[in-house]
Amino acid sequence: YWTHRAYHEVPVLWRLHAVHHSVKSMDWMAGSRQHILELLITRTLVLAPIYVLGFSKEVIDAYIVIVGFQAVFNHANVSVRLGPLRYVLVTPNFHHWHHSQDQEALDRNYAAHFAFIDYLFGTAVKSDRLWPGKYGVLGDYVPNGFVKQLKFPFTWKG
Ligand SMILES: [Zn+2]
Ligand SMILES: [Zn+2]
Repeated sequence: YWTHRAYHEVPVLWRLHAVHHSVKSMDWMAGSRQHILELLITRTLVLAPIYVLGFSKEVIDAYIVIVGFQAVFNHANVSVRLGPLRYVLVTPNFHHWHHSQDQEALDRNYAAHFAFIDYLFGTAVKSDRLWPGKYGVLGDYVPNGFVKQLKFPFTWKG
Protein backbone atom coordinates (compact mmCIF):
# COMPACT_ATOMS: atom_id res chain seq x y z
CA TYR A 1 0.00 0.00 0.00
CA TRP A 2 2.62 2.53 1.02
CA THR A 3 4.96 1.73 -1.86
CA HIS A 4 2.09 2.20 -4.30
CA ARG A 5 0.92 5.39 -2.56
CA ALA A 6 4.48 6.76 -2.72
CA TYR A 7 4.48 6.13 -6.48
CA HIS A 8 1.50 8.50 -6.69
CA GLU A 9 2.52 11.14 -4.15
CA VAL A 10 6.28 11.47 -4.75
CA PRO A 11 6.68 13.32 -8.09
CA VAL A 12 9.89 11.54 -9.19
CA LEU A 13 8.22 8.15 -8.61
CA TRP A 14 5.01 9.20 -10.38
CA ARG A 15 7.07 9.71 -13.56
CA LEU A 16 7.68 5.96 -13.57
CA HIS A 17 4.25 4.86 -12.36
CA ALA A 18 2.37 7.10 -14.85
CA VAL A 19 3.40 4.57 -17.52
CA HIS A 20 1.31 1.89 -15.76
CA HIS A 21 -1.61 4.33 -15.64
CA SER A 22 -1.42 5.21 -19.33
CA VAL A 23 -3.68 2.27 -20.31
CA LYS A 24 -6.94 3.60 -21.74
CA SER A 25 -8.87 0.33 -21.63
CA MET A 26 -8.49 -2.32 -18.98
CA ASP A 27 -7.89 -6.02 -19.55
CA TRP A 28 -5.81 -8.81 -18.02
CA MET A 29 -2.68 -7.62 -19.85
CA ALA A 30 -2.87 -4.09 -18.40
CA GLY A 31 -1.03 -5.13 -15.24
CA SER A 32 2.04 -5.97 -17.29
CA ARG A 33 2.38 -2.41 -18.57
CA GLN A 34 5.03 -1.04 -16.24
CA HIS A 35 8.24 0.92 -16.60
CA ILE A 36 11.19 -1.47 -16.21
CA LEU A 37 12.62 0.71 -13.40
CA GLU A 38 9.34 0.58 -11.46
CA LEU A 39 9.36 -3.19 -11.83
CA LEU A 40 12.91 -3.46 -10.45
CA ILE A 41 12.36 -0.97 -7.60
CA THR A 42 9.07 -2.53 -6.48
CA ARG A 43 10.28 -6.13 -6.68
CA THR A 44 13.36 -5.19 -4.64
CA LEU A 45 11.37 -3.24 -2.03
CA VAL A 46 8.89 -6.08 -1.58
CA LEU A 47 11.06 -9.18 -1.96
CA ALA A 48 14.22 -8.03 -0.13
CA PRO A 49 12.49 -7.66 3.29
CA ILE A 50 10.68 -10.99 2.81
CA TYR A 51 14.01 -12.65 2.05
CA VAL A 52 15.89 -10.88 4.85
CA LEU A 53 13.17 -11.75 7.37
CA GLY A 54 13.95 -15.39 6.63
CA PHE A 55 10.67 -16.72 5.23
CA SER A 56 10.99 -20.23 3.82
CA LYS A 57 11.24 -20.88 0.10
CA GLU A 58 7.73 -22.44 0.12
CA VAL A 59 6.20 -19.30 1.63
CA ILE A 60 8.00 -17.00 -0.85
CA ASP A 61 6.92 -19.25 -3.76
CA ALA A 62 3.29 -19.16 -2.59
CA TYR A 63 3.47 -15.39 -2.21
CA ILE A 64 4.82 -14.96 -5.77
CA VAL A 65 2.00 -17.15 -7.17
CA ILE A 66 -0.66 -15.10 -5.31
CA VAL A 67 0.91 -11.78 -6.37
CA GLY A 68 1.18 -12.96 -9.98
CA PHE A 69 -2.45 -14.07 -10.02
CA GLN A 70 -3.76 -10.87 -8.45
CA ALA A 71 -1.71 -8.64 -10.76
CA VAL A 72 -3.47 -10.24 -13.74
CA PHE A 73 -6.89 -10.72 -12.12
CA ASN A 74 -7.21 -7.17 -10.71
CA HIS A 75 -6.83 -5.67 -14.18
CA ALA A 76 -9.07 -8.21 -15.96
CA ASN A 77 -12.30 -7.15 -17.57
CA VAL A 78 -14.56 -9.20 -15.30
CA SER A 79 -16.97 -8.03 -12.64
CA VAL A 80 -16.28 -9.87 -9.38
CA ARG A 81 -17.97 -8.17 -6.45
CA LEU A 82 -17.53 -10.82 -3.70
CA GLY A 83 -20.41 -9.35 -1.63
CA PRO A 84 -19.23 -7.86 1.67
CA LEU A 85 -15.82 -9.50 1.11
CA ARG A 86 -15.11 -6.73 -1.43
CA TYR A 87 -14.27 -4.51 1.53
CA VAL A 88 -11.57 -7.00 2.52
CA LEU A 89 -10.06 -8.28 -0.74
CA VAL A 90 -9.12 -6.34 -3.87
CA THR A 91 -11.42 -7.16 -6.82
CA PRO A 92 -11.17 -6.13 -10.49
CA ASN A 93 -13.88 -3.51 -9.81
CA PHE A 94 -11.80 -2.07 -6.97
CA HIS A 95 -8.57 -1.81 -8.98
CA HIS A 96 -10.32 -0.56 -12.12
CA TRP A 97 -11.38 2.48 -10.09
CA HIS A 98 -7.72 3.06 -9.28
CA HIS A 99 -7.08 3.46 -13.03
CA SER A 100 -9.88 5.98 -13.52
CA GLN A 101 -9.62 9.63 -14.53
CA ASP A 102 -12.90 10.37 -12.70
CA GLN A 103 -12.43 13.08 -10.07
CA GLU A 104 -13.79 10.92 -7.24
CA ALA A 105 -11.19 8.24 -7.99
CA LEU A 106 -7.94 10.21 -8.25
CA ASP A 107 -5.27 8.87 -5.87
CA ARG A 108 -7.67 6.31 -4.41
CA ASN A 109 -7.78 2.49 -4.06
CA TYR A 110 -4.04 1.91 -3.66
CA ALA A 111 -4.20 -1.58 -2.14
CA ALA A 112 -3.07 -4.50 -4.30
CA HIS A 113 -4.30 -7.36 -2.12
CA PHE A 114 -6.38 -6.15 0.86
CA ALA A 115 -8.99 -3.48 0.13
CA PHE A 116 -9.63 -2.79 3.82
CA ILE A 117 -6.29 -0.93 4.03
CA ASP A 118 -7.77 1.83 1.81
CA TYR A 119 -10.90 1.96 3.98
CA LEU A 120 -8.62 2.20 7.03
CA PHE A 121 -6.59 5.13 5.67
CA GLY A 122 -9.55 6.91 4.04
CA THR A 123 -8.35 6.43 0.46
CA ALA A 124 -11.13 4.13 -0.81
CA VAL A 125 -13.39 5.24 -3.69
CA LYS A 126 -16.88 5.85 -2.32
CA SER A 127 -18.84 5.47 -5.59
CA ASP A 128 -21.91 3.20 -5.83
CA ARG A 129 -21.21 2.63 -9.53
CA LEU A 130 -19.64 -0.70 -10.54
CA TRP A 131 -17.15 0.79 -13.00
CA PRO A 132 -15.57 4.22 -13.56
CA GLY A 133 -16.31 6.34 -16.63
CA LYS A 134 -12.88 6.94 -18.15
CA TYR A 135 -9.48 5.25 -17.76
CA GLY A 136 -5.97 6.68 -18.07
CA VAL A 137 -3.85 9.54 -16.74
CA LEU A 138 -5.76 12.79 -16.16
CA GLY A 139 -4.52 15.14 -18.91
CA ASP A 140 -3.37 12.25 -21.13
CA TYR A 141 0.25 13.45 -21.20
CA VAL A 142 1.97 10.03 -21.35
CA PRO A 143 2.99 9.35 -24.98
CA ASN A 144 2.10 6.16 -26.85
CA GLY A 145 4.79 3.69 -27.92
CA PHE A 146 7.23 1.43 -26.08
CA VAL A 147 10.39 3.51 -26.58
CA LYS A 148 8.62 6.81 -25.88
CA GLN A 149 7.24 5.40 -22.63
CA LEU A 150 10.65 4.01 -21.70
CA LYS A 151 12.12 7.52 -22.05
CA PHE A 152 9.10 9.36 -20.61
CA PRO A 153 10.25 9.54 -16.92
CA PHE A 154 13.52 11.17 -17.99
CA THR A 155 12.21 13.53 -20.66
CA TRP A 156 8.90 14.72 -19.15
CA LYS A 157 8.99 18.43 -18.25
CA GLY A 158 5.85 18.17 -16.05
ZN1 LIG B 1 -1.27 3.42 -9.27
ZN1 LIG C 1 -3.00 -1.32 -12.07
